[in-house]
Amino acid sequence: MRHSQRQERTATDGRGEALRLVKVTKTYGAAADGTLVTALDDVTLSLATGSFTAVMGPSGSGKSTLLHCAAGLDRPDSGLVVVDGEEMTGGPGPARGEAALTRFRRTRIGFVFQQYNLLPTLTVAQNTVLPLRLAGRRVHRAQAERILTGMGLGDRLGHTPDQLSGGQRQRVAIARALVTEPAVVFADEPTGALDTRSARDVLRLLQEAVRLHGRTVVMVTHDPVAASYADTVQFLADGRLAGQLRAPTAERIAERLAHLGDDIVGTHATTTTGV
Ligand code: ADP
Repeated sequence: MRHSQRQERTATDGRGEALRLVKVTKTYGAAADGTLVTALDDVTLSLATGSFTAVMGPSGSGKSTLLHCAAGLDRPDSGLVVVDGEEMTGGPGPARGEAALTRFRRTRIGFVFQQYNLLPTLTVAQNTVLPLRLAGRRVHRAQAERILTGMGLGDRLGHTPDQLSGGQRQRVAIARALVTEPAVVFADEPTGALDTRSARDVLRLLQEAVRLHGRTVVMVTHDPVAASYADTVQFLADGRLAGQLRAPTAERIAERLAHLGDDIVGTHATTTTGV
């Protein structure tokens, strides 16, 4: 008890709270035909503004579902998601309309995907400021230039994505995710398609966004080295939070993951043998 109170106090560390999940549950399928899968099971989590969190766990443990529910791309069956003090879900109660949710997402949430998701016909600068345009905000060319120069892409403003390497494309995607100065940036396997060096550049940029600019980043990854760039790793197993690691190193993450795997194999073995 005392331990969990201490964790709660240090969770936001006197800073603001960028993201809060309270008892979030999400199931897929139908109980009637026995296909019900509990992808997220009563997940409660609080992330401070200016934190960098990696979410790890075995395949099928609920990482994508967590990201989608937290980012308002999917609605939980029950529980609460609060981004930057604003409730995104109503659970069974009053929920935001889709249009309001989309507006909120456009300005308060940034996304970085494994496959970059840049628009091929737009230039680097145009891709970067797209969220501002979609939100009907005034766009200053200097703003895009400043961000892209910071990403090492100052000489690529007029290029289209097909003229860039994978690492450069992902850097544009990060610039696009940051341009609205969102409350939370969600990154889904952002280095999954990159070589080691490009991956390192991308991870450093995410780290810089947190440390220098106070942004909040939540990153799903399979890779212990990528996760070691975060301040904290949250582990998921069978749709539940299964502990966290602060100031993680790749070795300690890999070790913890191996034990998570053991636990799950153990649980499944018990179930399937009926013991
Ligand atoms: P992870 O990202 O850790 O691999 P997911 O969040 O994708 O895990 O999936 C968690 C569980 O929910 C898995 O058992 C998966 O099969 C199931 N699941 C995810 N999406 C769907 C869906 N659209 N329909 C049915 N089951 C799903």
